[in-house]
Amino acid sequence: MNLKEKYREFKEWQLRPYQVAPLSQEKHTCATCGTSYQGNYCPRCGQSSRIGRYSLKTAFLLFLDVWGLGNRGMFRSIRDLLLRPGYMIRDYLGGMQMAYFPPFKMFFLLATLSILVNSGLNIRGENQLEQAVQTYERSFDMNIQIIPAEENAAVESGEGKADVELQDRINGSARAFFRFLIDHQTIIELVWLLVLSLPLYVLFRKCPAIPDLFYTEFFVAMVYITNLMNIVSTIFSFFCVDLVIIGLLPPLLSIIALKQLSGYSYLRTIFGLVASFAIISIVVMIIMVLFGVVVGVMMAV
Ligand SMILES: [Zn+2]
Repeated sequence: MNLKEKYREFKEWQLRPYQVAPLSQEKHTCATCGTSYQGNYCPRCGQSSRIGRYSLKTAFLLFLDVWGLGNRGMFRSIRDLLLRPGYMIRDYLGGMQMAYFPPFKMFFLLATLSILVNSGLNIRGENQLEQAVQTYERSFDMNIQIIPAEENAAVESGEGKADVELQDRINGSARAFFRFLIDHQTIIELVWLLVLSLPLYVLFRKCPAIPDLFYTEFFVAMVYITNLMNIVSTIFSFFCVDLVIIGLLPPLLSIIALKQLSGYSYLRTIFGLVASFAIISIVVMIIMVLFGVVVGVMMAV
């Protein structure tokens, strides 16, 4: 019973937008320009009323400020993204921009942090990126070892030699492609987001919570949802938890976020996601077939 009550309270908290603390009546005199005023910031030069003597806290905030983290509730944004993602994004799109950390800035900061964590800043000091590349390349080496053993006779005859060479070339380009993916993760993630948000937008633009959603707004929402997934996976990478174990958690969180954002049921949300992936797969297949036909025609000519 108590637990049920707690859950109800949590639900209410989730729905409640961020509340700015009421303005104090206290008068301030700006240390920079001498203006007397009430409030948190000097109306003339913009200096914060909280600036006083140099304390450890101000020094720390100024240090964070160098990285663009000192203002606009970075910690509140992370907490809300984890606990009420869709509602927070709705508040942000509704105009509460000062309450939350800007989505694109967060995206690039998280990308940098995730590269740092993945390449060694974790509890084991492991370079997880290098390991991923090695695991992948080992799987290719195994393929290569299997092929000659089976086709040794064919290689001798000459005809199989071309096959092996072709196989080598395909392996080589696949490796280069995988390297490229690892080296350009951030850009690829953004491009993928742009592609994925197209069919998703078509399926979510008339959602009950925001019936007149713009594509740009939806894209911003998608960036926040990606930030949520990146926060979780970076935390797990930091503790070196195997991705296989928690692989389902980020997609699950994205479903919760999309559900809260759109106001659709879980079923409708999942349907939208699955349908979007299906549409993208079909389009990619059509492009590949067309590409194949073009190459085939060119070879024939
Ligand atoms: Zn001032």
